[in-house]
Amino acid sequence: MAQNNYDVIIIGAGSIGTPLAMALAERKLKTLVLEAAASPGQGQNKCAIGGLRATHSDASKIKACLRSLKVFATWEGTHGDDIGWIKGGYLFPVYTENDEKVLKELLKVQRGLGLNIDWVGPEKVKALVPGIAAKDLRGGTWSPDDGSASPLLSVNAFYRRAVKLGAEFHFKEPVKEILSENGVVTGVRTPQALYAAKWVVNAAGAQAAAVSELAGVKVPVKPDCHEAGITEPADRFFEPMVVDIRPGDKSKNYYFYQNWEGQIVFCLTPQPPVWGDDRRSTSEFLPEVSKRMISLMPALANLKVRRTWRGLYPMTPDGFPVVDFPAALKGYVLSVGMCGQGFMLGPGLGEAVAAHIAGSPSAEDKEILAGFRLERSFTGQEKLK
Ligand SMILES: Cc1cc2nc3c(=O)[nH]c(=O)nc-3n(C[C@H](O)[C@H](O)[C@H](O)COP(=O)(O)OP(=O)(O)OC[C@H]3O[C@@H](n4cnc5c(N)ncnc54)[C@H](O)[C@@H]3O)c2cc1C
Repeated sequence: MAQNNYDVIIIGAGSIGTPLAMALAERKLKTLVLEAAASPGQGQNKCAIGGLRATHSDASKIKACLRSLKVFATWEGTHGDDIGWIKGGYLFPVYTENDEKVLKELLKVQRGLGLNIDWVGPEKVKALVPGIAAKDLRGGTWSPDDGSASPLLSVNAFYRRAVKLGAEFHFKEPVKEILSENGVVTGVRTPQALYAAKWVVNAAGAQAAAVSELAGVKVPVKPDCHEAGITEPADRFFEPMVVDIRPGDKSKNYYFYQNWEGQIVFCLTPQPPVWGDDRRSTSEFLPEVSKRMISLMPALANLKVRRTWRGLYPMTPDGFPVVDFPAALKGYVLSVGMCGQGFMLGPGLGEAVAAHIAGSPSAEDKEILAGFRLERSFTGQEKLK
């Protein structure tokens, strides 16, 4: 039984659990990651299109993502693996007076929190995205330090680093029970074994609510279906992630960029939302998104789509994650409800959660978690979901 004793057990080797394991192992905590799938990133991590931005509307996400961006941007130089990082920036082109007003208001908050972001005029937008529709273009917000990377290359790089630092990963081993005594976590049970630990972290993504039931703690996380697609590769012709926030017929915003291999990767927010865990692609997604993308950038009509897929945002009612140490069960940690941003939040949140578990959180670590408490009203709305 002694070899089954850990400081920390993480449930889920995805966008959140894997970089957290790396941060814990860095602090010399004996860490075990239990993952139901056969390898890292096989849940929602590999459904992400790879967008990485610190351009949010609140301090916690901005600070966590600024940290993440540092990790992604310097990864290859520091650790040697190519994770497909491109510092292409994020561009929100604006075509209506109201959107201009909303984004300019937000700019004040974002700049106040140290983000490198500004309003640019139509000429700059056209230079950043050659061929973008010029009619009614008013300008847009531009954050040049944001970027993109491959979710699967990244999660595997984090996995290898975590293992090198001493973390253990068990695949095809789902957690079936979270064990406790007198209100204190003692470990977990899987079909294969029983493991003891002082801390058990729920990083189970779209399954987070069901996993949290095992600890007797309710979390408002529901899977929300989103589809994405990827084209054949082309020579590079634009750098930023383009986010069009205007509503469409059956959708809210959509966003796309050209990845490190030259493929256009794109994603759409359906309206009304599609709740549930049905991962089958639909016949509605491609006509809706391609119509919108081509009207914004007619040159895209020449590219063939290679495939589409459907994944799940682990959604909370207000669009913010839940990262907390619930008082109801000592030693139980929630790192869930990442909505459409788990890939970009992963490394930054991992550092903040690991610092709390190690008992030495900095002021900024505390500030990051302060915005993600379980005990909140969930009535607000994240402006840049
Ligand atoms: C179409 C689409 C596009 C997206 N684009 C972006 C983007 O550009 N940028 C971005 O930041 N985010 C994006 N996202 C969101 C991102 O994919 C998620 O927020 C993120 O992957 C969630 O991370 P996670 O670690 O919580 O969940 P996951 O990565 O799904 O990891 C959870 C893991 O827990 C495992 N698990 C569950 N239950 C158990 C159990 N009982 N025992 C053991 N293991 C268990 C699962 O198998 C899974 O591997 C996108 C999502 C979709 C669907």
